[in-house]
Amino acid sequence: MSTIDIEGLEMRFGVFTALKDISVSVKEGEFVTLLGPSGCGKTTLLKLISGFLTPTNGSIKIANKDVTLTPPEHRDTALCFQSYALFPHLTIGDNIEFGLKQQKISKPERGRRLAEMAGQLALDAQLDKLPNQLSGGQQQRVALGRALIMRPGVILFDEPLSNLDAKLRDSVRVEIRRIQRENNLTAVYVTHDQSEALAMSDRVMVLNGGVIEQCAPPEELYNAPATSFVADFIGGANIMEVEVTGETEPGVYKLNTPLGVLISKSGRVPPGKRIRACWRPESVKLGELSVNTFTAKVTDRQFQGSYTDLHVDVNGHSCGLKTPNPNIFPGENIDCGLDPSDVILLEAI
Ligand code: ATP
Repeated sequence: MSTIDIEGLEMRFGVFTALKDISVSVKEGEFVTLLGPSGCGKTTLLKLISGFLTPTNGSIKIANKDVTLTPPEHRDTALCFQSYALFPHLTIGDNIEFGLKQQKISKPERGRRLAEMAGQLALDAQLDKLPNQLSGGQQQRVALGRALIMRPGVILFDEPLSNLDAKLRDSVRVEIRRIQRENNLTAVYVTHDQSEALAMSDRVMVLNGGVIEQCAPPEELYNAPATSFVADFIGGANIMEVEVTGETEPGVYKLNTPLGVLISKSGRVPPGKRIRACWRPESVKLGELSVNTFTAKVTDRQFQGSYTDLHVDVNGHSCGLKTPNPNIFPGENIDCGLDPSDVILLEAI
């Protein structure tokens, strides 16, 4: 059972606290992504799980065994980096086998595992080549093979796709996920790319300033962000300060907002009457609704192909909209509506 259980983890570098009170459990075979802006503590958390750092406080269990003070080589983890870190003078085959040799695994067993790995990663024809004779995508697969051949229970990825171009990134993404599923590996994956996190993960842990803002499946992060930070970081949002003036029926709230009075059916109302609320640029309905309507003046327009981004002004409050209609231009007034379930309540101010 390659589970990961992290409890009350804290990491200080001198007086600077890089991670604060991190608690999370990762199930066997689960793919969890650490997502957040530069400096939020993603790599530090990965290094703590792999054993390259020791926490100031808190504990880490892998497969129910406390490994907080266990060195990396004695943890059931393998690490896959962004800079593939292949040995340039060793063949692809020798690179992949490297860890097995270190562990003094017999030659026939190494041969069997290498053949199996090369097959899984479509690297059979490359085994006698040197790393510089391979493309970036192939080198990334070698790095993956080198980690997977150790048959770890837990695989840790540190921005493994950041050296690849956009097209290759998509295909390696799919491949990483396929191999992780086929081998039922527990995976922790670091990225600062929100679309990568949403596309790949069972759950995404959003970190900001060393604390967890929210850890949830991608759909939940998008549809029910817990904080303004998550709402804005995942997909972008129009965030406004509102006043809750009443509950018209259970779970349905009346709000005073910069756009006028709006009804919200989405969220938990935290204690306190002044809160933040948000709505997604793409959830606006143009001229379709009879509730939650407001008039917006278009101030800017950016055609994006399948949709158009509009910047609008509503009562002096600027908002962003996305619409499939390409025929709306600056200076026009448009009638907008929001479904009450698309007005999402966030935290108290
Ligand atoms: P990036 O996306 O830029 O890689 P990150 O989220 O992975 O960022 P970390 O590398 O985990 O961020 O760093 C978190 C914070 O801890 C940063 O402010 C960083 O400067 C600090 N930090 C990391 N390692 C050390 C260290 N060895 N000594 C002092 N401060 C450190």
